[in-house]
Amino acid sequence: MVTRTDFIHALENDIKPAFGTSAEALEHLLFRGIINWGKPVAEILADGKLHIQEARAAEGSGLVSILLEGPPNSGKTALAAQIAKTSDFPFVKVCTPEDMVGFTESAKCLSIRKIFDDAYRSQLSCIVVDNIERLLDYGPIGPRYSNLTLQALLVLLKKLPPRGRKLLILCTTSRRQVLEDMELITAFSTVLHVPNLSTSDHLLSVLEEVDLFTKEEMSSLYSKLYGKRVFIGIKKLLGLLDMTRQVEPNYRVIKFLSKLEEEGGLE
Ligand code: ATP
Ligand code: MG
Repeated sequence: MVTRTDFIHALENDIKPAFGTSAEALEHLLFRGIINWGKPVAEILADGKLHIQEARAAEGSGLVSILLEGPPNSGKTALAAQIAKTSDFPFVKVCTPEDMVGFTESAKCLSIRKIFDDAYRSQLSCIVVDNIERLLDYGPIGPRYSNLTLQALLVLLKKLPPRGRKLLILCTTSRRQVLEDMELITAFSTVLHVPNLSTSDHLLSVLEEVDLFTKEEMSSLYSKLYGKRVFIGIKKLLGLLDMTRQVEPNYRVIKFLSKLEEEGGLE
């Protein structure tokens, strides 16, 4: 016989949302981890911690909204996920445009609305809205966007959770200017800039972490890269390193450096 206790047990332990639990969603975004390649990373994570405390604070408004903006591939999504994970808030929901492919404007608004409604019901909630310009159907040709979704987001970003409840919102974009034009920037309580790697020290810190080059190769890389100007996003760089891993060991350094130059990552 199925008792009420069984039912409650099932609710708590067996029933998972269709797209996996929120913890899984975060882990999926974080599966490559966060490499602390320099001061910008440390600063963003430290600021993140401060804002988590601010969101938790009993005397606060209960609402903190952070925009992580930076060039494509700079690591915005992973950093947002890392801050969400650090918050340790029990309700975490990731809202990505990928989950809403083919939705009509109104279906999109409803589903965003539902995420926020669910969050308001929990004591401590964190919502990650990834790639906000894509969620708004922004297209550079035209340019066009969904005004309905924009209006919904403008309202939801400013709406205080019910008394005593706390909500931390983390959004990402690689189109800061577009959000400024839409007057969406001012809806955020904080904007954090996520930069590309810009010095050889940044680059070498990543190379030290990835366990790909031998000691000898590393010292050759040190002398070849020393003082060079670098400009590459962490995601792009990790992709180049994945490719380099497939190259015959003797040619790895040469191949890596030539690919880096090709990609415009090295001056
Ligand atoms: P896009 O512009 O396509 O949205 P993005 O800026 O959101 O890209 P991510 O999707 O976050 O970039 O990719 C960053 C990748 O680099 C992730 O796989 C992440 O695990 C890894 N990573 C390693 N170190 C860092 C770091 N310090 N900051 C951010 N991501 C890092
Ligand atoms: Mg992203």
